[in-house]
Amino acid sequence: MSNCLLEVKDLVTAFTTSKGPLRAVDGVSFQVNSGELIGVVGESGSGKSLTSLSIMGLVPYPGKVVSGEIFFEGQDLLKLEEAEMVKIRGKNIAMIFQDSRVSLDPVCRCGEQIVEAIRTHEKATREEARERALELIGLVGIPNPARCVNAYPHELSGGMCQRIMIAIALSCRPKLLIADEPTTALDVTVQAQILELLDKLRHDFDMSVILITHNLGVVAGVADRIAVMYAGQIMELGDIGEILNHPMHPYTQGLIKSIPKLEVSSKRLYSISGTVPALDKMPSGCRFEQRCPEAMALCATVLPEMCVLSDGQYVCCHKYDTWRSAYE
Ligand code: SF4
Repeated sequence: MSNCLLEVKDLVTAFTTSKGPLRAVDGVSFQVNSGELIGVVGESGSGKSLTSLSIMGLVPYPGKVVSGEIFFEGQDLLKLEEAEMVKIRGKNIAMIFQDSRVSLDPVCRCGEQIVEAIRTHEKATREEARERALELIGLVGIPNPARCVNAYPHELSGGMCQRIMIAIALSCRPKLLIADEPTTALDVTVQAQILELLDKLRHDFDMSVILITHNLGVVAGVADRIAVMYAGQIMELGDIGEILNHPMHPYTQGLIKSIPKLEVSSKRLYSISGTVPALDKMPSGCRFEQRCPEAMALCATVLPEMCVLSDGQYVCCHKYDTWRSAYE
């Protein structure tokens, strides 16, 4: 029996502009299994956040999901009315964002914000919800929950605010948590604590997590699998250990080479030259062609297909054209 919780199939999300529709997410497909933590990695503009907003049904205007399917527990979310989606959002699928101080209401006590989240989705009395809020604050590792429950966000550190956001997200025991750059605004030591917490909670709550980050190092220690995104498409997808040890796509290879090492070295830090192409200047062939050290003549004009390298490992690059297409 499949343990697939979420399946995104050939998702296309575009923005309507005077130049016509511009595809910011273009043909993205991946699955998330129950209890799995999948990292979605890529530079700004790679479409990773827009993919998660598409799953949540929160694509900002003038963007919209143009085609594809998003199955959550077998139900296509794209076919639901907004009222049905409201019941799923926050209850079955929750999301946390990068800057918790912006996401939290500055004039509402932290405990009250958790109580609100619980009472939005469940029939709980204020007292019951407050008890749960205290319990959740303890679960996310905040010392002295009784004091924190009455604190305003500005009275807490960035790391504590992110823990409150996680408590709000967990308040209805979601089956899927989408964490969009949850550690980017935090100090390195606090980042590690938040990642450790997410990893622990997904086991405790038997929950799947999509962890979105621009930093490959962030997912290295916690993810089961990763999807490497570039310019709105998935370039490589597979087991984290396999990809970190044997990256097959030139973009993934560049990302791994760009991770700073602690050893003393006279070598300059590696970086991938160039930038992600603008939405209205996407090449007709491989989207990484202008920055790829291994580009061939056909790369400029022919879009590569996703190929299956081995069971569960996929790569989108002409170097592997003799491998089996993932969409056969
Ligand atoms: Fe490089 Fe060509 Fe592969 Fe694109 S398809 S990553 S340009 S080798």
